[in-house]
Amino acid sequence: MTIEVPHIPWQRAVFCNRTLNLRSIKAIGYDMDYTLVQYHVVEWEELAYGYAKKRLLEQGWPVESLVFDPELMIQGLIVDIELGNLIKANRFGYVKTVFHGSHPLDFDQQRKIYDRTLVDHRDGRFVFLSTMFSLSEACLFAQLVDLWDAGNLPAVLSYADLYSRVRATIDDQHREGRLKEEVARNFERYVEIDPTVCETLLDQRDAGKKLLLITNSDWLYTRAVMQYAFDSFLPQGMTWRDLFDVVIVSARKPDFFSSRSPLLEIVDDTLLREVSSDLISGTVYFGGNAALVERHLGLTGAQLLYVGDHFFGDVHATKITLRWRTALVVREIEGDIKAEEDFADKQCKLDELMREKEDVERQYCHVRMLWQRLRKGRGGEDAKAFKQTVDELRGKLENLDHRIAPLAQASSRLSNENWGPLMRAGNDKSYLANLVERHADIYMSRVSNLYLETPFAYFRSARGTLPHDAPRRSAV
Ligand code: IMP
Ligand code: MG
Repeated sequence: MTIEVPHIPWQRAVFCNRTLNLRSIKAIGYDMDYTLVQYHVVEWEELAYGYAKKRLLEQGWPVESLVFDPELMIQGLIVDIELGNLIKANRFGYVKTVFHGSHPLDFDQQRKIYDRTLVDHRDGRFVFLSTMFSLSEACLFAQLVDLWDAGNLPAVLSYADLYSRVRATIDDQHREGRLKEEVARNFERYVEIDPTVCETLLDQRDAGKKLLLITNSDWLYTRAVMQYAFDSFLPQGMTWRDLFDVVIVSARKPDFFSSRSPLLEIVDDTLLREVSSDLISGTVYFGGNAALVERHLGLTGAQLLYVGDHFFGDVHATKITLRWRTALVVREIEGDIKAEEDFADKQCKLDELMREKEDVERQYCHVRMLWQRLRKGRGGEDAKAFKQTVDELRGKLENLDHRIAPLAQASSRLSNENWGPLMRAGNDKSYLANLVERHADIYMSRVSNLYLETPFAYFRSARGTLPHDAPRRSAV
């Protein structure tokens, strides 16, 4: 029998940093928001922004004219709370792009400020925006920096003070019920339905894997959104609850993965009961910790996979503390890949011009050095001819730079005019890409990308490249 294996479009592929054999995974824990349940980002963030703005207006802040701009910021940026800047850094922490408030800094301004500064996520000066929920926060902060610079926020003491007020306001919106109630009243507007996620989880469950839902969302919201996103796409008589061995809400990740937080059982909508025993299959819990999950399943480390969208909340601690296998869901990957595909011809042209530039540069260096030797009396050739060649090559380089500049600029602005692709910073990997490479074993744009891979997939990482790898010879 010949089986036709379905083609997987590159945008929907699963990308592997560290080899992962799904067959050896016995249990898969899932995050909910932006992992199992995808939202229409602009609508959701506009709503969160609107509620935060309303709160600031009530406190007398002059923010009437502010409007959410979904293109202004992207996930993966870094807030410099000392200086009121938003930063994109490369994998080494060198600052590559900076906005002060909602305005970009030019290269010289940027260099003056960050010449001696390396970004490090462990430094309290820098805050990483590592979830889609950060977009409203980043946009609001940037716009308020403009207002503070213009002297319109007299009660604010510093950029750090401003950031902590914005953080607290956004935090409140997520914690108090109104924002979620509004989303729940109008799921069609905010939730992006993907029935293939249900199929994916059914396949995994049928392949013998225990599935768990571990979310920071509260029980009432979790139940409502999971019912909406799952129940109509499951076989007759089945509900989303039947997919999961255990459901844990209000989990307080990332602390969940390292703490010994107490476990409560959700008895009904208003009643919580403290639990002293182990977890019991089919139950919904509030809080708790990963050690209880491991004990319940009788599994540790590499037998468990956790899938989430928040780099620090879902993946970082999971890998560092527990050594679980990790999968990161990065929605932007789809748009970034599409933009790079559309740009492929121009990228080829850019690569070709860069190769030409490297050749001319080497000639230039060489001729210049010969000319220099001559001028110092260490050669016998005609100095004039050398000088002419040096000038010609310099002219060639200028001409090449002229052709390269617009292409290089366009390449660094793919996907987002201000910041470019999430995982790249100029020609290099972004700081986020470096963290993802180290801590997420696999990454993909959606959970449903696992569907075509099947629960039996063997993801192999590519052979890592090194600058000293010998150039590949073509077969003779
Ligand atoms: P999860 O991704 O399923 O773990 O759920 C994320 C939950 O965290 C959602 O209920 C969000 O509303 C909530 N959330 C996102 N950002 C914040 C915040 O800044 N403060 C408090 N809760 C947040
Ligand atoms: Mg999430």
